[in-house]
This record gives sequence, C-alpha cells and structure tokens, in this order.
Amino acid sequence: MTYSASTIAAIATAPGRGGVGVIRLSGKNLLPLALALSGGKTPKPRMALYTDFLDEEGRAIDNGLLLYFAAPASFTGEDVIELQGHGGLVVMNMLLSRCLALGARLAEPGEFTKRAFLNNKLDLAQAESVADLIDASSQSAARMALRSLKGNFSNHIHQLVDNLINLRMLVEATLDFPEEEIDFLEAADARGKLARLREELDKVLAQATQGAILREGMNVVLVGAPNVGKSSLLNALAGDDIAIVTDIAGTTRDTVREQITLDGVPVHIVDTAGLRETDDVVEKIGIERSHKALQNADVALILIDPREGINEKTQAILASMPSGLKKIEVHNKADLTGQSVGRFVRETTNSTFHAENIDAYTNANTLIRLSAMRGEGLDLLKQELLNIIGWQGESEGLFLARTRHINALNVARDELENAAVNGYDNIELLAEHLRLAQESLNEITGEFSADDLLGVIFSRFCIGK
Ligand code: GDP
Ligand code: ZN
Repeated sequence: MTYSASTIAAIATAPGRGGVGVIRLSGKNLLPLALALSGGKTPKPRMALYTDFLDEEGRAIDNGLLLYFAAPASFTGEDVIELQGHGGLVVMNMLLSRCLALGARLAEPGEFTKRAFLNNKLDLAQAESVADLIDASSQSAARMALRSLKGNFSNHIHQLVDNLINLRMLVEATLDFPEEEIDFLEAADARGKLARLREELDKVLAQATQGAILREGMNVVLVGAPNVGKSSLLNALAGDDIAIVTDIAGTTRDTVREQITLDGVPVHIVDTAGLRETDDVVEKIGIERSHKALQNADVALILIDPREGINEKTQAILASMPSGLKKIEVHNKADLTGQSVGRFVRETTNSTFHAENIDAYTNANTLIRLSAMRGEGLDLLKQELLNIIGWQGESEGLFLARTRHINALNVARDELENAAVNGYDNIELLAEHLRLAQESLNEITGEFSADDLLGVIFSRFCIGK
C-alpha cells in the first residue's frame, strides 16, 4: 500500500479555548520546517525545545514547546513534530496557517493513525482502538480500548493465525503425497490440532462478543400506553428529571433519550410517545420516531399498569415488533397494587409465570414488577437488562471489539467447522476451508484489507488523530 508522503498538519486538541493547544505534524523530513518555525534552533529528538514560533517575517506568533520525533521512532513512523502553544482558537489557527505556508497540508480525519498503520506501527485492530479509546463512553470501555491498543486483542488473533498456519502447512504438504496423505495427517494429529484451534477461536469469540457489548452498548426502548409510567421509569433509571411527567395522557410528545451506564455498559434508553394513533402533528412525529427507535433497539421494555392490563394499541405494537427484539415485561406501580416487587421467569417459553398468579400480557420470558415512583425494583430491572444481552461483567483479559471483528471471527469459525465436517474426505477442500479461515482472521488485523475498508475505518476518526 502506498500513500502520498506529503506533510500533514492538524490542530490535535479539541476546538475551543484551553490552557494549551497542540498542533501535530507528520511527514518525511520535518527538520527544515522546525528550523523555520524556531528561527534556526535545532530540536533534539524527544527533547522539549522552548521557543518562539515565528511567522514568515520573523515575528513571534506564539511561544511554547516544540517536540521533535525523528523517523522511524514516532507515532506515525515518519518525522513528527508537536507544537504546544497557547490554546486559543486564533493563535492555533495562525500557527496552523504558518505550517501550511511552510508546505504542510491539512490532515484528513484519522490520517496520523492511518500512516501509523501503513508504516506497521499499529495493526488495524489497534488503530481502531485509538478511535475507540477517544470515543469511550464509560471507564470500562476506555480500559478495554487501551488493552486492545496495547495489542491484547491482536495477540489473540496472531496466536490463532500461527496455529492455523501450522495446520495449513501440514495439510498442504500432504497434497503432494496423495498415497499416504491420510496416514500422515493422522500421525500428525491434524484432527486434534483443528479441534483445539476451534476451541481457542470460540474463546476469543466469546471475549470479543463481551467487548463488543461494551463498545456498542445497548439500545433500549420503553413501550407502553400513556400514563403507565414510562417517563417516570426513565427518570428513575437516569436519576434525574429529563422527561416531563404529568397526569395528562399523551404528554410525552417526543421521544426522549437518556444514556446511563450499567456495570460499565453504555445503555441508551428511548422513551416512546406512547405509540398511539393521533391527529396531533407534533405527536405524530414523535410516534414515527418511536417506530424507528424500535427498529434499532436491542431490548424493549414493555411497561404495563397491571390494574389496566394492555390496550389494543400496545398489542398492535407488540405484534409489529422485529422478531429478534428481546423483551422484558415490566409491571409498574407496585406500590398501588400492594404487591411486592420481584423478578419472575417462565419455566419454559410458553408456560405461565409460575409464582403467584401473575397475568402476563406479552410473550417475554421475564417479568419485573416494580414501582418507578418509589424507585423500588429498579435494581432487578437493571440486572435483567445486563442478563438479557449476555453481559458477564468486566474481567481481566477482556478487550474492546467491533462488530466487524465479530463478523470476521464468525466467518473463520464457520470455515473451521466446514473443515472439521469435511474431515479427510477431500484434502483439497480441507485446505481451502483453512485458507479462508485464515483470510478472515487476517482481516481483523488488517493484513488482508481492501483499501475501501481502510477508508471507512479511518474516515470516522477525529482530525488530528
Ligand atoms: P407515561 O405517560 O407512560 O410516560 O407516564 P408518566 O411517567 O408520565 O406517569 C403517569 C402518572 O403515573 C404520573 O402521575 C406518575 O407520577 C404516575 N406514576 C408513574 N409511576 C408510578 C408508580 O410506580 N407508582 C405510582 N403510584 N404512580 C406512578
Ligand atoms: Zn411519558
């Protein structure tokens, strides 16, 4: 892969005022640029140089620190310069303009990290974790992203690939000796090697799936008739008043969103507009958004006032829900019915709720009884949300993963399964399944990636990274 070796520059600090602002540059030979900026002072690699930053007429634009990292010992693998000046928009922009006048061009989003990848400073999974670390929405997510950045995830993949390559060499070697091929593979325990490889891959997949939950978080929608207590529940979960709670049915006009963190997992919750037919234009917009929210949701909380049961509108919504959507039935206002809060689970999919005599109105497997107003039973609901998406808690060795990684691991898993099913029936086919499995794993670290994939990944970065 190649890229234009032009010098790139960007303001790396967040836009706005700050004590310090940083401009970052990367390129082939940045010493002349450093000398022009500093008025002839030569920076030593990795030593802070305190200097004025000069404009073309030798006037100081700002003063601060110039850090010089000589290729290849830098983030990008090229010469890198960081200018630490005063963090004001005007002064930063003047400094950036000066760098552009000295021959740099504005960096694209993620271009520094992309260069680091192309110069083999990071593999693709590590490069992605740079963005994930910056975007992390919980402390756990940040910790996991850092682990991926340090190569925890990549090491797992490399280990899998190494073992796979060993197996492939065995299999491909036998292709040249068709007479004794099966005996040879048996003697080398190819079957056992493949079985162990599949076990290892399943472990990595399970960890990556946990990491993806942490990265993607979960989308939850609150569904239910007006006045069942959707806004109250959202407020109780969020811990402060963001939605309007009133006694008048239909007051929650718009969808209202809130993000909370449960055991480190970001949870996006959307309160719906009650999802009922209406002529009110404002309310109609809210209802359309609610239907959209349903399409994007992982979990639906179906809120019911057990004194009223379920109305036809809510029934219709339930019927139109995407089939993959997980559901939790929630009976609110336990304080009014005088029943104790609790979590109830069906013994089998179609059985009734075994405990007490609970009328369930949906086919959800779990039912939570709580009081949103009193905040009782909320913990049961929070725990159930984590259960239902399969979150097992943060543990050592976990790393942040993306859907892209999960998909690639699944493809590899399928290919290894095909290989196992095929057995020694057709050695060429066996070899091909193993090859495809490796190709898929290599995609994770970027050893086999198409340019357009790189474009997609790096364009989502912020400028200056
Ligand atoms: P929404 O229309 O579904 O969003 O319902 P709201 O959250 O606006 O609540 C409607 C009414 O029910 C308000 O008067 C709330 O105070 C009340 N309410 C909500 N949850 C509870 C609860 O757990 N117990 C009692 N007693 N009242 C509740
Ligand atoms: Zn409401």
